[in-house]
Amino acid sequence: MTRRRAPEPALRRFLRYARIDTQSREGSEAVPSTTKQLVLARLLRDELKALGARAVTLDRHGYVLARIPETLPKGHPARGRVPRVGLVAHMDTSPSAPGAGVRPRVFTYRGGDIRLRDGVVIRASENPELAKNRGKRIVTGDGTTLLGADDKAGVAIIMSLCDELLGDPGRLHGELRIAFTPDEEVGNGTRYLDLKRFGAEVAYTIDGDAAGELNQETFSADAATITVHGRSIHPGQAKGVMINAIKVLADVVVRLPRDMAPETTAGREPFVHPHHAEGEEAEATLQLLLRDFDTSGLTRQRRLLERIVREVERLHPGARIELEAKASYRNMREGIAREPRVTAALEEATRRAGLKPHWVPIRGGTDGSRLTAMGVPTPNVFGGGQNFHGPTEWLSVTGMERSLATLRHLVGVWVELTAPRR
Ligand SMILES: [Zn+2]
Repeated sequence: MTRRRAPEPALRRFLRYARIDTQSREGSEAVPSTTKQLVLARLLRDELKALGARAVTLDRHGYVLARIPETLPKGHPARGRVPRVGLVAHMDTSPSAPGAGVRPRVFTYRGGDIRLRDGVVIRASENPELAKNRGKRIVTGDGTTLLGADDKAGVAIIMSLCDELLGDPGRLHGELRIAFTPDEEVGNGTRYLDLKRFGAEVAYTIDGDAAGELNQETFSADAATITVHGRSIHPGQAKGVMINAIKVLADVVVRLPRDMAPETTAGREPFVHPHHAEGEEAEATLQLLLRDFDTSGLTRQRRLLERIVREVERLHPGARIELEAKASYRNMREGIAREPRVTAALEEATRRAGLKPHWVPIRGGTDGSRLTAMGVPTPNVFGGGQNFHGPTEWLSVTGMERSLATLRHLVGVWVELTAPRR
């Protein structure tokens, strides 16, 4: 059964998916956090089935899984031996900017700033990637919403690859496992993923940005909560009695190191970041993110917070301050390094797609962080988008096509790595 037809271009797929509102929600008890994510999930399930993918499922948590069978013929030295490669992208978009009513615009970039609407400008000076796209097509929103290239570019790229491979059984590859995840943007992208059903031995998330950029390192992350217990009394009779938890907490905040904050650091530098505070005289709480590429740095950050808490307690006799910290995710570098073929294959595929691969540490986490921790080494691949989570988000069509070309080569490189040519 040889079936050949022209696959739908990745750009056209992306534009279809981007128009569907799949914004996830912080603090929701439901799984997925918003039911609207299921609209895209059902569409992807149906499209995968129509393309001829196997074992296509959409489970009650909103995960879409599918398999692309091996095409290696009888007698091929790698047949049955190529590791099952997983390809992962997330369907939801960030709660940080409006995600409904996305109106993508496709045009050829001619240079200079791009004015989307009053006050919403993609500045050439802040977007070095723009210069590389002069004379090429890019996609933006209309300035009122995010675009959702994070991560519908990844979804479209994987779907296009499935379309190509299933339409041309002459292309040799091992078995592929596909996963589209909900709720990545609210930290639950792999929480309910059925790893056994997914069944990948190695995987790649397609959730990065500039063409050629690859990631095998993420922050290691902890979350801390500081709770101040003060003493409340009517302000009219408060002299010598009241201990205002808000003021105690303020003394904690001013002691956080200024040179270790998101707004003062970049690259591999760690930070301690207070991101939510609430309270009244009797009690006040502060939530913080602890981030360091070196996991042992998190222990130092916890000790630093302990020292600050003790010092502030001494300043305010009668106040009681509690500090709690728990692990969020861990740098995936070590887990990935255990299977060196994962990064070697990706580098080679990126080169064959005509790009110079370069590894960049991510100042955040990905679906790959937990997958790697669970034993499935999962680096991240660029998808061509920029300025994620805001109304100036844009997508390089060339970047997206290069990402697809990288995956196309990747499945072939895995066959070669398994049975090297003599
Ligand atoms: Zn993403």
